[in-house]
Amino acid sequence: MAENNNNDGDEPFPWHLGVFDAHCHPTDTMSTLSSIPSMKAKILTIMATRAQDQHLVVQAASKLGIQSSDAAASLESLSKEERVVPCFGWHPWFSHQMYDSAAYADKETLNDEDKIAHYQSVLDPRSEDRDFCLALPDPRPLSQFLEQTRRHLEQHPLALVGEVGLDKSFKIPEAWMPEHQEQRDDSLTPGGREGRRLSPYRVSIEHQKVVLLAQLRLAGKMQRAVSVHGVQASGVLFETLRETWKGHEKVGKRKQKKMQENEKHVGTDENGGAKSPKPYPPRICLHSYSGSAQQLSQYYQQSIPVDVFVSFSTAINFSGSRPPDAVEEAIKAVPDGNVLVESDLHIAGEHMDRHLEDIVRVVCRVKGWSLDDGVRQLGQNWKRFVFGA
Ligand SMILES: [Zn+2]
Repeated sequence: MAENNNNDGDEPFPWHLGVFDAHCHPTDTMSTLSSIPSMKAKILTIMATRAQDQHLVVQAASKLGIQSSDAAASLESLSKEERVVPCFGWHPWFSHQMYDSAAYADKETLNDEDKIAHYQSVLDPRSEDRDFCLALPDPRPLSQFLEQTRRHLEQHPLALVGEVGLDKSFKIPEAWMPEHQEQRDDSLTPGGREGRRLSPYRVSIEHQKVVLLAQLRLAGKMQRAVSVHGVQASGVLFETLRETWKGHEKVGKRKQKKMQENEKHVGTDENGGAKSPKPYPPRICLHSYSGSAQQLSQYYQQSIPVDVFVSFSTAINFSGSRPPDAVEEAIKAVPDGNVLVESDLHIAGEHMDRHLEDIVRVVCRVKGWSLDDGVRQLGQNWKRFVFGA
């Protein structure tokens, strides 16, 4: 762990300047939500991931959401109870639990044969174990989830889309054995792994892409930022994200002028058509970024019309799975205005504050920022990620 193993460990930490958690999951342990108003961190960006936590994120937002309609301008005047930005999305670890509605004639539920066929088509390798497939949760239509998410986003004007993404390394857990289910910890929100054995099956990357792309398009339509999970999938993740902005790449000044002249000839509206809705999300955060520094450069090509943020956590990035040097190289490679910090933790409270302090200290040390300057910069970055300009 990186806890307090840096040079700045003794310098008092400037919580008063505002520290923002760009990605966390406190709804996994609902009893800890009540500790949020007394946390030192200012605002938590809380992700939804699966069937069991969408309404819990709504609940967190109704108790602790930001009420001010002009929060971006006046974060300083928020009350102690305005501490949460909700995010709605479906995580790749649960992507098999959704079926492409079009492939099943828009059926609202699947019978056993369709359920087996669905799981056989999305699991990799294909499973011939019908009992295994039947023991998995009843899958739900993707279209229905998208509709629910659209409503959540409408009801929460500050909400983002997340957590979504692609993951080539995870395997789905086996179904609960009845005797184990009785012993499970009721304080945890159901649906997580909770120590269950892993099956040999992954979810095909093709299916993960269908679920991700649909959510990215919704984020584009609603012009909301997105928090993205990517593990061992940096090439295919970039390609999938790029699909959303294909044809909308930024062009150089000279080419732009020429295009505008052409547009005048065909006749556009008063604004030169500039206000037409864009099909891609305006801002993306690569959360707990685990790729290399080199792979980041593709996101900062001038032609890319999306503002790409990269977020780091001690829980994932300094947990020993990758050499700290590689993570530090990645931190250095992110433009100063695009770095975010996060806890990625499942429990709110002091523990989360400690993790946030640790990662802020690491980022400041690597970037050569004083703690005051770093916390201010990271706060500005978070505001731009969540609220836009
Ligand atoms: Zn997460």
